[in-house]
Amino acid sequence: MPMLSLSASFSGDPTPLGVDLHMHSTASDGALAPADVVALCAERGVRLMALTDHDSMAGIAEAEAAASRLAIRLLPGTELSTLWSGIGIHVVGLLPRGASGALAEGLLAQAEARESRAVVIAQRLEKIGLPDALARARELAGPHRPLGRPDFARALVAAGVVPDMATAFKKHLGSGKAGDVKAHWPALGEVVGWILESGGVAVLAHPLRHGLTRRKRGLLLDAFAEAGGQAAELVNGFQNADVTRDLARQLADRGLYASLGSDFHFPGGHLAPGSMSPVPRTAVAPVWTHPRIAAFIDASLDDIPPGGSIASS
Ligand code: AMP
Ligand code: MN
Ligand code: MN
Ligand code: MN
Repeated sequence: MPMLSLSASFSGDPTPLGVDLHMHSTASDGALAPADVVALCAERGVRLMALTDHDSMAGIAEAEAAASRLAIRLLPGTELSTLWSGIGIHVVGLLPRGASGALAEGLLAQAEARESRAVVIAQRLEKIGLPDALARARELAGPHRPLGRPDFARALVAAGVVPDMATAFKKHLGSGKAGDVKAHWPALGEVVGWILESGGVAVLAHPLRHGLTRRKRGLLLDAFAEAGGQAAELVNGFQNADVTRDLARQLADRGLYASLGSDFHFPGGHLAPGSMSPVPRTAVAPVWTHPRIAAFIDASLDDIPPGGSIASS
C-alpha cells in the first residue's frame, strides 16, 4: 500500500502526489456515489482527498465512512457558486471542521438559489424549443439533488434539440448563453467569509477556466485575497505548464497557498481521481501546509489502525 508522504513544497517531481482536493459525486453533478468516488481514489493511490460537490455537503458522511474503511484521509469540502464582477466564480471550501453557522445557513440558501435558478433556466430553454424543461431536467436528475446546468444539458440532448452535451453548453448553457443564469449567487467575498468562519480554507477554484486576461485574473486574485481567501488552485485537471508557472507567480505575489485537484465528475472521460497536470517546482506553499489543514492531517494520524498503511513525513 502506498504511503502518504506529503512534501512540504512542490519539488517539481512529476510523479503523482496522491492528493486530489477537487472531486464531485452524485451529491451534485458527478456520476459516482460518494463511497464509490472514495473507492476509486483508493484504487488509484490517492491518499488525501476532498469531496467538493457543488453547493452541497450531502455526500460527506457517506464519503467519510468509506474513507475510514479504506484508510484514506478525507477533507470535507464543497465547491460554492459565487458572483464577482458579473462572472460566475467557484470557491472550494476545505472544511476540516465541517460547516457551521453562516456556512450551514449559506448551504441551505444555495440549495434554494438552485431551485429558483432552475425555474429561470427552464423558462429560457422553453423559448429555444425545449417544452417542460424543468420536469425533464428533474426526471433525469432524480428526486434528491439540486438541479444544475448539466441536468438541463442532458435534457436538451435527450429531446434531440442538440446532439451532445458539448453542443448543449456551447449553444445554450455555456458562458453568456441564455441558460447561463448566475444572478442567484452570493458575492465572492461573502462566501469566503462563510468558509473562514467555519474554520476552513477558501480556495479559488480553477482561476484559468474563465477566459480572463492575466490582468483581470490578477484583479480576481486581489479581490479573493482581500476578502480573506487563503489559496487558489494552481492545477485543476490538465493545463499548459507555462501557464501553470505564470499562475504560480500570481499566487506567490499575493501570499496564496496552492491547491490542486482533478475536478473529476465521471469515469471514462479524460479525468480520473488523482489525474492532473504535474505541479512544477514553485515557491508557492502547498495548501496542506496551511495550519488549518496541517492540524487536520496530524490529528487524523490518531485514526490509523495499529500497523496501518499510512505514514506521514
Ligand atoms: P452549474 O453548477 O449548474 O452552474 O453547472 C456547472 C457545471 O456544468 C460545471 O461544474 C461542469 O460540471 C458542467 N459544465 C460546464 N461547462 C461544461 C461543458 N462545456 N460541457 C460539459 N459540462 C460542462
Ligand atoms: Mn460540475
Ligand atoms: Mn467549478
Ligand atoms: Mn468542480
